[in-house]
Amino acid sequence: MTTDALAPSPAAGLDVRLHAKIPAGPIEQKWSRHKFDLKLVNPSNRRKYTILFVGTGLAGGAGAASLGELGFNVRSFTYNDSARRAHSIAAQGGINAAKNYRNDGDSVWRLFYDTVKGGDFRSRESNVYRLAELSVAIIDQCVAQGVPFAREYGGLLDTRSFGGALLSRTFYARGQTGQQLLLGAYQALQRQVAAGTVQVNAHTEMLDLIVIDGRARGIVTRNLRTGQIESHLGDAVALCTGGYGNAFYLATYAKNSNATAIWRAHKRGALFANPCYTQIHPTCIPVTGEYQSKLTLMSESLRNDGRVWVPKQSGDPRPPNEIPEDERDYYLERKYPSFGNLAPRDIASRAAKEVCDRGRGVGTTGRGVYLDFRDAIQRLGERVIRERYGNLFEMYERITGEDAYRIPMRIFPAVHYTMGGLWVDYNLESTIPGLFVGGEANFSDHGANRLGASALMQGLADGYFILPATLPDYLARTRLETVDASHPAVRQAEAAARELTARLLGIRGKRTVDSLHRELGHILWEHCGMARNQAGLEKALQRIPALREEFWKSVLVVDGNEEVNPALEKAGRVADFLELAELICLDALHRRESCGAHFREESQTEEGEAKRDDANFSYVAAWEHAGDPARPALHKEPLSFEHVHLAERSYK
Ligand SMILES: Cc1cc2nc3c(=O)[nH]c(=O)nc-3n(C[C@H](O)[C@H](O)[C@H](O)COP(=O)(O)OP(=O)(O)OC[C@H]3O[C@@H](n4cnc5c(N)ncnc54)[C@H](O)[C@@H]3O)c2cc1C
Repeated sequence: MTTDALAPSPAAGLDVRLHAKIPAGPIEQKWSRHKFDLKLVNPSNRRKYTILFVGTGLAGGAGAASLGELGFNVRSFTYNDSARRAHSIAAQGGINAAKNYRNDGDSVWRLFYDTVKGGDFRSRESNVYRLAELSVAIIDQCVAQGVPFAREYGGLLDTRSFGGALLSRTFYARGQTGQQLLLGAYQALQRQVAAGTVQVNAHTEMLDLIVIDGRARGIVTRNLRTGQIESHLGDAVALCTGGYGNAFYLATYAKNSNATAIWRAHKRGALFANPCYTQIHPTCIPVTGEYQSKLTLMSESLRNDGRVWVPKQSGDPRPPNEIPEDERDYYLERKYPSFGNLAPRDIASRAAKEVCDRGRGVGTTGRGVYLDFRDAIQRLGERVIRERYGNLFEMYERITGEDAYRIPMRIFPAVHYTMGGLWVDYNLESTIPGLFVGGEANFSDHGANRLGASALMQGLADGYFILPATLPDYLARTRLETVDASHPAVRQAEAAARELTARLLGIRGKRTVDSLHRELGHILWEHCGMARNQAGLEKALQRIPALREEFWKSVLVVDGNEEVNPALEKAGRVADFLELAELICLDALHRRESCGAHFREESQTEEGEAKRDDANFSYVAAWEHAGDPARPALHKEPLSFEHVHLAERSYK
């Protein structure tokens, strides 16, 4: 039985405690018993509480709609022009659920096991079990909303396989699963807008968190059309603002995804957990040139039917279709015979890097491997492949000019997701009381590596089921004083936002925001990317503060504040990335083990696989901002494993 995990802080004199509030009792009953213990708010009192939801992606859209449906007064914020333009719309491949429709051996336990193992034993068992349990309800909820999941011959929802699992539990809507799920959440949100319980503020970017008497009581925003700085007060704040992988500049994220909301909340006291756990996805379209600003994912679902290979001979100049079978190295199938092309992302990415480092990469840059559908087309026919992945093939052709039905796709790993984020307890509450965090913005349930199709599952579990149960409990238990905009904390936060904007506009330097951001991305990719080592990380930790200084001396932000000014928006976000990047590298440097996507070259097995050090690193690293970005304080939440036994992760 897991009891409350109260982690000691190694930083003497600090009063922050990582109290995970994991309920007692058997793991299968923790969530249902906890829900019974959570306090409810009388329906007629709910409208008296105001909840501020930042983010309208799958986590924020679902959460705002669900709390609005319960009768709370919800105010929702997004910098996008519409709630339905959140980055979640880009998700392609699918969402996991332990429905076992295929009768291929799935269960809540198996999804739980696969997810803990997939995360390389760096997540909380209790949370992951709850996630697996809720996965089943998510599908029901989405089907009831009318989400058009693919169906098979008999009418049941169809599934496919994703990495890290030996069965088929990924529900999908062609290559547009995120879009269809987001439309479901969006219509639920709009229903509440019509009912008057939710008010959506688009084009509105959160710039700061207002903390009064130690509790989150509001946010400061900037209207992206008029430049107006405003404060919004409420009884609780939920941040569902997505991941921070764009710190690397080149990534598969929507260009505007950023860390500002969570980073500024971090600077107000919310601890940041495991910032170095960055997912690098193996199947993206390779980089083509220095001035590229975006990378495109080719969904992991393609690895159901596509086979990954490189020529056996390094520098082989022949076009792929002229390379005979016995001169091809299907390296994933060779190295991981049981999982083959469905090896998890961290493992498949490192394997691609390794063959390219040995000079066997393909394409003009040599940083690419083939994803080949020839055999699947021969076996199933082109029509079936077109039905399964047609829109992905079209997207690939639009970008590369190549027809992947005839020539193998070229793919290479790219930054795709961040497992780190604000630390939250079992209730998804951060270390600032009243500040809840959902979706990719929290440090989530994925440990050191997220399995494919589990981000949508986690975002929707947080939004539709967990926050609607835990956030009202906070409101029911807490006596909150009435506050208004004249409160000194509100004035101070507003003044700080205005000063920052004025400072950025006043520099009038010579370097564009993008050039500084690109340089930061190079540093992170080179020293804190797919492989990390002490010397490289130390170098990055010298270069990042120097680049930050350069930013504050020489960034050029043209135009004014009282109109749409994308350079100003970007500058504020890049200023935050320049601080967060330092924390990412510090975290990577302190974690001298390899685990999941965090591969420290000093810690590998003889076969070159990640080697964990459970004796010294089986904990969540939660960092406290202590003023100087170079000296954050480290807190540790120990992890214990009772149901999934710690073992070397093997996909052979
Ligand atoms: C190309 C691609 C494909 C993917 N495919 C899959 C898949 O098939 N399956 C899967 O499980 N996962 C997939 N993922 C991952 C998944 O899409 C994301 O992890 C998930 O959608 C994140 O949802 P979210 O609600 O946490 O945040 P987001 O969808 O990122 O939403 C963030 C929201 O916060 C708002 N916001 C952020 N900061 C501020 C601020 N300061 N002020 C105001 N608003 C703010 C934004 O406007 C937006 O509304 C994919 C990711 C990518 C990039």
